[in-house]
Amino acid sequence: MLIVPEAEIAGLMDRKSCFEAVEGVFAAMSRGDAYNFPVIREAIGHADALYGFKSGFDRTSLALGLKSGGYWPGNEAKGLTNHQSTVILFDADTGRVKALVGGNLLTALRTAAASAVSIRHLARPDAKVLGMIGAGHQSSFQMRAALEQRAFEKVIGWNFHPEMLDRLAATAHEAGLPFEAVSLDQLGQEADVIISITSSFAPILLSAQVSPGTHIACMGTDTKGKQEVEAALVARATVFTDEVAQAISIGECQHAVADGTLDPARIVDIGRVINGDHPGRTSPQEVTLFDGTGVGLQDLAVAAAVVDLAVKKGVAISVDF
Ligand code: NAD
Repeated sequence: MLIVPEAEIAGLMDRKSCFEAVEGVFAAMSRGDAYNFPVIREAIGHADALYGFKSGFDRTSLALGLKSGGYWPGNEAKGLTNHQSTVILFDADTGRVKALVGGNLLTALRTAAASAVSIRHLARPDAKVLGMIGAGHQSSFQMRAALEQRAFEKVIGWNFHPEMLDRLAATAHEAGLPFEAVSLDQLGQEADVIISITSSFAPILLSAQVSPGTHIACMGTDTKGKQEVEAALVARATVFTDEVAQAISIGECQHAVADGTLDPARIVDIGRVINGDHPGRTSPQEVTLFDGTGVGLQDLAVAAAVVDLAVKKGVAISVDF
């Protein structure tokens, strides 16, 4: 068995490899070559923790395994990240364990890659202004990956906790772009691409605030009850997702489906666009929305890629097991 420790991931994984792994697995899911198993997520009644598994199998790459972990709210006080995860990969031919891979950084990278894939395939080619809603841990990963998809000239941002906006400013400046903190009205009006990445349980961005032609990647809603944008905005948009079943149950689509304004049949797997089976955006005025719920196969794809890189660089630890 190979081990790739969390501390090695930053030196191994780059955004390009991550993008390719995630784009490839979305395409495989849409072809029916890869599928996610039902997600388990439980409050364990200890340390206020939420713990679970996401798992699946990709018949094309033979990535088989699971990501296990969750959220421990008391970790920060112990000097640890609240979100904790580890990926275990298995040999699809024998069932033997193949690799144990640190999953914390990979989660942020694969989540950013998912919205970047949506921007690559759905945003207007002339997009210039990136709008960020959310300034937490994921936000800088999201911004860096998004900025590589179009010739953005400016980043604007809004956050529920304005004191956190420094993170967005620093990330934009690191990419050589100006940053402006704005109201939600201004953000919706000016941004060509909007990423929402918050833990909100109530709509932040309203449909009336969003200009025609915008692409929105809703990345924060990954649990029943969470919500980042008004259901009317989802109903107005052409809607894409990583996996329809998750979009309806735990993603941003859950609210518009529940109030009857979004027919689940209208939600398109982004893999169909990647595979050329759906045209994606069809006009410069169209509002496109990607509901990125986060699937186990994304984790397996990036973990498999990082194991290959670790072997090549000679940093994978091999143990008899
Ligand atoms: P974080 O705790 O570092 O940041 C939380 C963000 O949400 C901050 O911007 C904060 O200001 C904002 N926020 C907190 N309470 C809010 C409220 N009541 N209303 C509006 N905004 C509020 O978290 P993070 O690691 O950056 O993750 C952000 C979200 O992304 C979480 O909901 C997480 O579950 C989700 N996530 C999704 C995926 C996926 O694959 N889709 C992957 C990882 C994380």
